[in-house]
Amino acid sequence: MVSEVLDDAVADRIMAVLATVPDPEIPAVSVTDLGIVRGVRCDPPVVTITPTYTGCPATLVIEASVRAALDEAGFADVGIKTVLSPPWTTDWISDEGREKLRAYGIAPPPKGAGSRSLRADSPAECPRCGSLHTQEVSRFGSTPCKALWRCLDCQEPFDRFKCH
Ligand SMILES: [Zn+2]
Repeated sequence: MVSEVLDDAVADRIMAVLATVPDPEIPAVSVTDLGIVRGVRCDPPVVTITPTYTGCPATLVIEASVRAALDEAGFADVGIKTVLSPPWTTDWISDEGREKLRAYGIAPPPKGAGSRSLRADSPAECPRCGSLHTQEVSRFGSTPCKALWRCLDCQEPFDRFKCH
């Protein structure tokens, strides 16, 4: 990857543009926070993105938002390549992205929790009080990418990112 980046400065500028593109479902975090943007190549200029959830209706919105941001910033000649393999994992969410999710009231998945180690019944941490005394209310939260949980200590419902 690094050897393919011909101009780091341009790649940095493109990444800075993408850092302003909010996730369509969780506007508090950007597509770079979530790790959806996998990288930038400069020859030919291409942004590689991996959607968080295959079949998620947000996928097309994300691509359109990235396209619009690139066009507006003068990067109309930069292409977008959607890559489905390897599949997106919650481990790609940046530390900053995790903090933004928590501040937004969504329990971020624990770092290093792969799809095998994180079963549906493992506890989510309450984004409000930090309690692990929580339970899943519904597999279907406000969007297909999230599940609805409830904290048994502070009684607050919250969304949890489904782990992939
Ligand atoms: Zn709580």
